[in-house]
Amino acid sequence: MTKYNFSAGPAILPQSVLQQLSQSIVDYKSTGLSILELSHRGDLIVEMLDEAHALVRELLNLPRNYKVIYLTGGATTHFGLIPYNLLPQNKTAAYVNTGTWSDKAINYARHYGNVEVVASSKDANFNYIPKNYDVPNDAQYLYVTSNNTIYGTMLKQMPKANCPVFIDMSSDIFSQPINATDYGLIYAASQKNLGPVGTTLLIVNEELLGQTGRDIPPMFDYRAHIKKKSALNTPPVFSIYGCLLTLRWIKEKGLENIAAANKAKAGLLYTEIDRNPHFKGTAAIEDRSTMNATFVCTQPEMESRFLQLCEQNGIVGIKGHRSVGGFRASMYNALELKAVEVLVELMRG
Ligand SMILES: *Cc1c(COP(=O)(O)O)cnc(C)c1O
Repeated sequence: MTKYNFSAGPAILPQSVLQQLSQSIVDYKSTGLSILELSHRGDLIVEMLDEAHALVRELLNLPRNYKVIYLTGGATTHFGLIPYNLLPQNKTAAYVNTGTWSDKAINYARHYGNVEVVASSKDANFNYIPKNYDVPNDAQYLYVTSNNTIYGTMLKQMPKANCPVFIDMSSDIFSQPINATDYGLIYAASQKNLGPVGTTLLIVNEELLGQTGRDIPPMFDYRAHIKKKSALNTPPVFSIYGCLLTLRWIKEKGLENIAAANKAKAGLLYTEIDRNPHFKGTAAIEDRSTMNATFVCTQPEMESRFLQLCEQNGIVGIKGHRSVGGFRASMYNALELKAVEVLVELMRG
């Protein structure tokens, strides 16, 4: 049976990427060796790493002072390493709390300096994106999450601030064109919209680094990773290769086309959610995410039946996160329109 993977993460990857990854495990570029067996200092892997950095630069049109690195530890490690590298102990960072992930980032940052939560939608179970808040003039940076994977909300407008804006794009990176220089730092765990789990992509304006006065050991110092082109220690070669293949796929399609396809998928599903009396969306309409659509049944007793129906028709990963309940349809770049059509058909019953 054809499977339609609506999982929030680790998530769907393009079939062509999976096929190339699978081939690379058996025989990487006709070397007679697996990519899993090759030295990260050898020409072939160095070349692969170079292209993985260069494609990010190209797709985001990055100027020279912006650096690209592939790190480990998942986004969660960087909840801590970002303030460790960029927030002096006696300075203040402004954070917007729009869900579980920013909430965690706030708690990590408190270890490294003053944290001011300038806006939060916690009071409404994070079902909207706060707007019109003030950022203190002395803030080192403003931290936001562009897409709230669990709650199905998405930042649609660049926040206003007189300081650099740092953004967690773990679940919507490369889902649409962005103006990267609007941000001082962009980062994303790989396993949602970028590739296999195992690496975190981080893009930073180099001029912001090295100002904390901390003596940072190299492995935790972004400058050391930049200097060694993401190979300070053994990098997660396989994950980065998966990201590279996905980046090539993105380049071939074009970010504008990917954005249009994402909009079409989300439009189809939200139209059905709003039309169908058996379902209702949980996120504020103006803040709805194109990546993760959250919805519930108007009669809760119908939910298990609908889940079962989905399962019988090849739809997987659609059960909502426990903090929202109901359903969450994640529609990352690699998910085809056909999958959403199948889902909508089932909702129509
Ligand atoms: C999944 C996710 C994270 C956490 O990523 P890990 O790699 O599991 O640490 C952080 N932020 C957002 C927006 C996410 O969707």
